[in-house]
Amino acid sequence: MPYRFADIILPVAVSGRFTYIIPDNLRGSIIPGARVLVQLGNRKLYSGIAAKLHNEDPGLKNIRPIMELSDKVQVVNDKQLKFWHWMSDYYMCSEGEVMNAALPSILLPEGVTSSPVIDRYKPREERFIELARHFSDEELNEILDKLKKAPKQEQALSAYLHLTDFNSNSEIKPVRLSLLIKESSASPAVIDALTRKGILSSVSLRVTRLDEHGTEREPLSKLSENQQIAYKSIQNKFTSNEVVLLHGVTSSGKTEIYIHLIEEQLKLGKQVLYMLPEIALTTQIIRRLQKHFGKVTGVYHSRFNEQEKVEIWEKVADDNPGTGYRLILGVRSSLFLPFSNLGLVIVDEEHDGSYKQHDPAPRYHGRDSAIMLAAIHGAKTILGSASPSIESYHNALIGKYGLETVMERFGKINLPAMIIANTREAYRKKQMVSHFTPELLHAVDDALGHNEQVILFQNRRGFSPYIECPECGWIPVCVQCAVNLTYHKGINKLVCHYCGYSTPVLSKCSSCGSTGLATRGFGTEKIEDEIKIVFPAAVTGRMDQDTTRNKNSFDKIIKAFEEHRIDILIGTQMISKGLDFENLTVVGILNADNMMNYPDFRAHERSFQLMEQVSGRAGRRKKLGKVVIQTSDPSNKIIRLVLRHDYEGLYKLQAEERKVFSYPPFCRMIRITVKHKERASLNHYAGLLGDDLKKAFGKRVLGPEFPVISQVQLWFIKTLLIKIEKERPLARAKEMILESIARLEKEKGAGALKIAVDVDPY
Ligand code: ADP
Ligand code: ZN
Ligand code: ZN
Repeated sequence: MPYRFADIILPVAVSGRFTYIIPDNLRGSIIPGARVLVQLGNRKLYSGIAAKLHNEDPGLKNIRPIMELSDKVQVVNDKQLKFWHWMSDYYMCSEGEVMNAALPSILLPEGVTSSPVIDRYKPREERFIELARHFSDEELNEILDKLKKAPKQEQALSAYLHLTDFNSNSEIKPVRLSLLIKESSASPAVIDALTRKGILSSVSLRVTRLDEHGTEREPLSKLSENQQIAYKSIQNKFTSNEVVLLHGVTSSGKTEIYIHLIEEQLKLGKQVLYMLPEIALTTQIIRRLQKHFGKVTGVYHSRFNEQEKVEIWEKVADDNPGTGYRLILGVRSSLFLPFSNLGLVIVDEEHDGSYKQHDPAPRYHGRDSAIMLAAIHGAKTILGSASPSIESYHNALIGKYGLETVMERFGKINLPAMIIANTREAYRKKQMVSHFTPELLHAVDDALGHNEQVILFQNRRGFSPYIECPECGWIPVCVQCAVNLTYHKGINKLVCHYCGYSTPVLSKCSSCGSTGLATRGFGTEKIEDEIKIVFPAAVTGRMDQDTTRNKNSFDKIIKAFEEHRIDILIGTQMISKGLDFENLTVVGILNADNMMNYPDFRAHERSFQLMEQVSGRAGRRKKLGKVVIQTSDPSNKIIRLVLRHDYEGLYKLQAEERKVFSYPPFCRMIRITVKHKERASLNHYAGLLGDDLKKAFGKRVLGPEFPVISQVQLWFIKTLLIKIEKERPLARAKEMILESIARLEKEKGAGALKIAVDVDPY
């Protein structure tokens, strides 16, 4: 008997699904995963996903009917629904919020107020030309003979036969009209004439907006002995572990090992998801993958427009290996694609902080969610890193994950030589040239002299992080945030990196009126300016958020560097990760200090990873690389560890600290952020919430307190951190937190608050 009720996921922040009646005319034709149109509240219509059909009358007084069924097919499959459900549960948000992150927005018209919902995805169509019917060889010869009187038509037909490699036994192949015109120099009228004669015919076909790639494939590289051992051992570990951590030093060939694992899965007819933390990295890896796997390989990230996203979505859902994607390379959002049959998920650079989504909900971690997604598919997960996150390494040590280590670089190249340059000393001895130590300048000079390339890393963009009045110490801050404004010289503006607010550079101090404001500190823009002065003959390039706003800007910069049209590339952490450049021998880290002083329990781990990562770019082929680290504190223990590439040492140090101070992986953390536009009200409500939580959690509650950035876009911010022992039931703790928040929301005036919960906020 057809179901009478449907539980619908709607794109709203209210938790839970919404039950509607399935009207008679839709009974039987509606299936779970289809889009439906319903009314919520008094007027508004929403598109949602029918998640579950059933016959349990919810006993609501005024239950509404579903107004319209948008598709008779599943837009979202069962595994996706399961994944959404897990995500909303684990990360304490609504399924609607997960759906908003998951579905390309044009599949989910939002807040529409009238029916019908029209699909905003429009397949792109083009005109193609094909033979009107099957002709035998004799027939064709006859036709061509007759056309001798109309040479243009003969030419056009010959061009068609040539382009399609015509053979009377094969199927009729369509050719793009535009291509045929180009190849035969015929006008459209000539083709029309052939069509009227019943020789050719014209068809409209769906074409892709996505780049299409050649089909030639290269065989896989042969693995080195060490790589082969690791590869076999990973396969072995997969028989007893769902997750394997591959700890391989930079340039050990982790990517090559993944490629072999991918090949194996594709042969089994399985899909593979290969995740990277940053779009910039997809550029190089996609070429490496397409070289071997051809057009079954697709990319997914936020730079695609909504139409393109829908096409990728459809290609992932397409089971046909001739037309669909089997291998997807993507950033964290690619977890939401409609996979039906994953065999393997690869999380490369698994330690990377960019895998975490902080805002808006769902505040999920791409790596942890990937493991869950793989589990739903019965697939395996491989986590790869040269310096794994403390949590993953911990999980490997306690046997939860398998662990595979490769300590040798491919080609037995040594890890780069590490040089410490003491900036304090160099300043004292007046040896600094701008922000450069003699050690760094010498290394750069040497590399340029040998026609080699250089990367300079500075984890701040803009020209200088702030400007200051030398007379009274006044510093311009954002009008909406408690943040210093960063000076951008190219556009001659002061910019807030938190909200985007910008203002022309001031000529006078707003406090004492004195002229001559001074720039303080330095960002990538300033480094580029100044290195040009020192090495005027070198070509410089810069890669940071400011130079990569356009869709293809990553590709352009990376290609330019690969083709050695840039000698010195300056950049933020975008250039620190998995990029592979043949001729790069020197890496400079301009300021190691400011990373380590960041007030976060992961600052040391992150600094180590960043330095290790960026050093790993140097000397990946024949020549030994060189890394110069500029610091005012050469005895710093993290720097000492980086010098020796001592990951084990870092892990021991960090694990000990975290055990003592109760941090992950030895406890769980949930952070609640409360915002209000008035400071006093914020203090009041955050205090209430804190007191209430402390009744249940006692000393496990830290705060409420103002975070380092205490105001953003006019909202004042306070945070509460709850640390929960690993042994305690997490689900119950989450319930109690939600109950506390619900009580706060009932307080008078609490409607003006914004409250966000972040599970694993790191
Ligand atoms: P990782 O991912 O560990 O940083 P890569 O897979 O990028 O290392 O390998 C580093 C470099 O060495 C790449 O340019 C890669 O093409 C090359 N390489 C690694 N293993 C092999 C192999 N087995 N055969 C040929 N080239 C290899
Ligand atoms: Zn701001
Ligand atoms: Zn002043």
